[in-house]
Amino acid sequence: MTDTREGGCACGAVRYRLHGAPMFVHCCHCRDCQRQTGTAFVLNVLIETDRITLLSGAPEPVAVPTDSGRPHDVHRCPACRTALWSDYGRRPGLRFVRVGTLDDPAALPPDVHIYTRSKLPWIALPADVPAFAAYYDMKSLWPAASLDRRQAIRG
Ligand SMILES: [Zn+2]
Ligand SMILES: [Zn+2]
Repeated sequence: MTDTREGGCACGAVRYRLHGAPMFVHCCHCRDCQRQTGTAFVLNVLIETDRITLLSGAPEPVAVPTDSGRPHDVHRCPACRTALWSDYGRRPGLRFVRVGTLDDPAALPPDVHIYTRSKLPWIALPADVPAFAAYYDMKSLWPAASLDRRQAIRG
């Protein structure tokens, strides 16, 4: 498979490789993501856990509170604490990888903007990318191949 991408944390202790295209890319403007990142939004690649190869290091899960009450673990470099990816809802087969940790973050622009109801007012969204005030219906937006991959994830 030639479609691979690499990334890592700020200190270099954690390095990883993604195999294959993401199922989908979220740009989330919710208040949780704003607080956890300390900035305006988070950018996440949705991908199967088994398509992530750790090349070095071992990210540690850190549980964070959520507005919804559902579990959310942020996996961070144990040394520099950079957030590499999230596990939402304790679903072991699915990861939300932080696009900013990729060596080439420009390669994966968002497929959707979500929770724009709390988007910071000075951010102008592109007209050609779907945007939703809250969450959205995966089945109406995801490519069929991505929906098949999501279905195939257990847990
Ligand atoms: Zn690090
Ligand atoms: Zn969010």
